[in-house]
Amino acid sequence: MALPPDLPVIDHHCHLSPDGEGVEAARRFRAAGGTHLFLATQQYGAKTPDCVEDYAAQFETTERIARAVESMTGAVVYLTIAPYPVDLVRSAETLGLAAAVEVHRSALELAGRWVEEGRAVAVGEVGRPHFSVAPEVFEACSEVFRTALEVARDVGCPAVVHCEELTPDSYRELAGFAARASFPLGRLVKHYAKVVRPVADLGGIVPSYLATRDAVAASASQPGPWFWETDFLDDPKRPGAVLDLATVARRARGMGETGPSGIEALRIPFEASVQQVYGFRPTVRSGVPAR
Ligand SMILES: [Zn+2]
Repeated sequence: MALPPDLPVIDHHCHLSPDGEGVEAARRFRAAGGTHLFLATQQYGAKTPDCVEDYAAQFETTERIARAVESMTGAVVYLTIAPYPVDLVRSAETLGLAAAVEVHRSALELAGRWVEEGRAVAVGEVGRPHFSVAPEVFEACSEVFRTALEVARDVGCPAVVHCEELTPDSYRELAGFAARASFPLGRLVKHYAKVVRPVADLGGIVPSYLATRDAVAASASQPGPWFWETDFLDDPKRPGAVLDLATVARRARGMGETGPSGIEALRIPFEASVQQVYGFRPTVRSGVPAR
């Protein structure tokens, strides 16, 4: 069964790089039936950003890639921007912890302004390193994470979280952390979730599942909101990692072939969840993706 022509097909978290495939990868996504991308910023080049100007330049690069993809492939691209949490660990080594925290705070304020101006739709990736660090560094990361949630709360957008794989206990712990920052849990997205869990185990947090075959099959029966993503890195040294950019579109087509119930399931990540978490509904009109 072909997918309905009005159904958006969305990768909720990917990266594209000027040194990688860039637009070519997006063409592959479009050819497989993909329509909308949530493009997360990343470090481009070898140097970890260590001042707010570096982050401004980085966000502008992400925006430039997004506009190139839109004009050359017809996909609609939304931006997710923030200073990457792991950068803090690296820049603290050269700047000192306090100065590194200040750089991240300023970059988060900048990200908030981009959301207000409609240039980005979410603050992310924000959160904590996925590996263990010294206690004082962890404390600084938590402080910056709290600022990130406050910025996202104040501009009214989702926060996309980078952290280790969560268990029911650590989902609850993260939910408590967000609640203390008065952040609305329905807008807190855990990106790169591998294990599909029942809603009761998510603590109110929205999972963005890595679109492996197993996770796609297991999540389809779960009520929303949840998303699928590839976390495509567009790193020439790691081609096709984490998943290839065409993956979500291929899986969606596979699920469409299972019949009407499969198509109904696709409306959860591609329509209802975006509406619920982001407050807008991506659309496709006569085969053309629209905002
Ligand atoms: Zn990412």
